[in-house]
Amino acid sequence: MSESAAKCSLCKRKEPFFHRVYSGERLCKRCFAESIEDKVRATLVRYKMLSYNDHVAVAVSGGKDSITLLEVLAKMERKYPRATLVAVTVDEGIAGYRDEALDITAATCKRLRIPHRVVSFKRLYGYTLDEMVEQIQKRGSELTPCAFCGVLRRKAMNTAALEAKANKIATGHTLDDEVQTSLMNIFHGDISKLSSEKPVTDVVHPRLVQKVKPMCEIPEKESALYAYARGFKFQSTPCPYAGEALRNDIRSLLNRMEERHAGTKFTVSKSIEKIRPALSGLQEKDEFKECKECGDPSAGEVCRACQLLKQIG
Ligand code: SF4
Ligand code: ZN
Ligand code: ZN
Repeated sequence: MSESAAKCSLCKRKEPFFHRVYSGERLCKRCFAESIEDKVRATLVRYKMLSYNDHVAVAVSGGKDSITLLEVLAKMERKYPRATLVAVTVDEGIAGYRDEALDITAATCKRLRIPHRVVSFKRLYGYTLDEMVEQIQKRGSELTPCAFCGVLRRKAMNTAALEAKANKIATGHTLDDEVQTSLMNIFHGDISKLSSEKPVTDVVHPRLVQKVKPMCEIPEKESALYAYARGFKFQSTPCPYAGEALRNDIRSLLNRMEERHAGTKFTVSKSIEKIRPALSGLQEKDEFKECKECGDPSAGEVCRACQLLKQIG
């Protein structure tokens, strides 16, 4: 290797710390971390995700992606004095798991001087996730914890954002999450979700807070490396209930493809971005009304969360 090839592609001075195979760059720790911040900034601008006076609820689970998102947005917020951030953590009630994440998130928010709100399943729905899982197991239901937890988490996050008077919710979904979800929607034949689950969601109802995904162009591996390079603490133990079979298969498939054909995840993501406008023209737009049970906006008479809570009993 020549002397220049052994140096960082950007500053040309330091030793490389990361080889970004899909772009050919070899970056030192500092240039790598700055490149992640630049990429998030570029994504925010490209998709017009935020306005200068937004009040943003950042969904922070305490994992690497959401802690990275919070740190990057906090850095940017200093340049936008009229914009404000509030961190929101959903406490599903998973014994021995969520407590560590709550502590890490609270400490991070304290250091960044960002208000932190916690919304729990117990307060909103009357039961913790552990209690709900026990119920469905007793009933011999086929429902998996993730199948209902995902829906209840989204509802809880929306409720918390409304309580915090936020007009946007920012989530830490990475490129990997986005591509996996798109392929899952294709595998499920759910074209409506494929067209609606995008980097900036449409405003379909005044009480459904708009969602933005500033990390949607950051590969998951780089999000973890950024947290490591900056020395952030995050929770690394996975949720004990994690295990959506189809998502795991798609994750492995994409990782294998990426290893053999660098840039595959970006290519799939860009293809879906191009297809999406055509898909949304084919979809009938849902008329939102009030859920008969909880009063939240719903496409049907009863919202999905209330239907699931009934099933759980
Ligand atoms: Fe809920 Fe599944 Fe996420 Fe665990 S992995 S918090 S059960 S959605
Ligand atoms: Zn460098
Ligand atoms: Zn409802």
